[in-house]
Amino acid sequence: MTDARKAGADTRAGIAPRAFLESVPLYQPGDEPCAVDLSDNTNLWGAPPAAARELRSLSSGIVARYPDLYSEQLRNALARHFSLRPDMIVTGCGSDDVLDAAIRAFGEPGSKLAYIDPTFTMIPTFARLNGLVPQPVALTASYDADADGLLEQKASIIYLCSPNNPTGTTLTRKSIEYVLETFDGVLIIDEAYAEFAGESVVDLLSRYERLLVARTFSKAYGLAGLRVGYMLGASSAVAAITKVRGPYKVTAAGERAARTAVLEDQDWVSARALDAVSIRQRLTAELQALGLAPLPSRANFVLVPVHRAPVVAAAMRRRGVLVRAFGNLAPIDAALRETGGSALRIGVGPWDQVATALTALREALAECA
Ligand code: PMP
Repeated sequence: MTDARKAGADTRAGIAPRAFLESVPLYQPGDEPCAVDLSDNTNLWGAPPAAARELRSLSSGIVARYPDLYSEQLRNALARHFSLRPDMIVTGCGSDDVLDAAIRAFGEPGSKLAYIDPTFTMIPTFARLNGLVPQPVALTASYDADADGLLEQKASIIYLCSPNNPTGTTLTRKSIEYVLETFDGVLIIDEAYAEFAGESVVDLLSRYERLLVARTFSKAYGLAGLRVGYMLGASSAVAAITKVRGPYKVTAAGERAARTAVLEDQDWVSARALDAVSIRQRLTAELQALGLAPLPSRANFVLVPVHRAPVVAAAMRRRGVLVRAFGNLAPIDAALRETGGSALRIGVGPWDQVATALTALREALAECA
């Protein structure tokens, strides 16, 4: 009993959170910090230069006051970048925030959210926190969405991710358009890694009001610590998500840095994304040379099936390298079937870090054989 309880202030039973929260996991992807951290798919080249300069110039007056209610200037910059109207953009505290708000805005409690499996682990959690029933539908053997399988769920929301986390693979435009043509509900496409693939469905926004596209400043844009994300969609959908999201969700520092990155750092972002792509190709070839079968990634990370991935990751961790281990992913291809869904996701950064990770992986595989 704590001292406060001993003092006898309140003898009633303790407070209890809502019962379903007992089965909702806390997001805890990693370990303690490591010398080489390739576990979270952020930009390991750092923050873009003009945005970093903007951050250094922030005055205390700016941080003493509230930020703009709905990030008007950032939305204006993004609107120019995408050739969309500002009322088609809602910002948030990371793309987590806009995904969560969109699910709350469009998913009646009790309805289903169908999503590709495997995918971003927060999606089923956001569904449940908003009272929806998460319904996973395995990717096909060619890493595409099983469009009919998703549609059969009779969901109110379908979530797709391309390039997908953790597979790194992209969905075909054909399957996305098929869902858009056939589905009556809201289709969310998460494009957190689109800058690395060089393809996007943003152009489809002009044809489909039911399409919402989520984007982030946490990956290619190198601003994960500032927590800025956004969603693009029809103005009526964006207005609903904005209500749900609430005011002041993007900090003054986050808004200024993100706006500066959009306006002044495009060349840097594109160059670093190209660096990531070429190092990803080199990493993939090295993994294949080890006799492994990495999935064909278009993102800034590679998923490689290995037996006992959590044990291998722990052995890499002891060698100062952090990667993300998955124990039982949906076995969508032959390599994942072979390992029982066990796989490592290795992020891409400057080659010296990736080379260190490869050495640690070789040693860890030998140790765990
Ligand atoms: N979507 C995907 C597919 C992700 O991988 C992540 C981060 N791991 C997010 C969304 C959330 O990113 P953030 O909240 O930093 O924008």
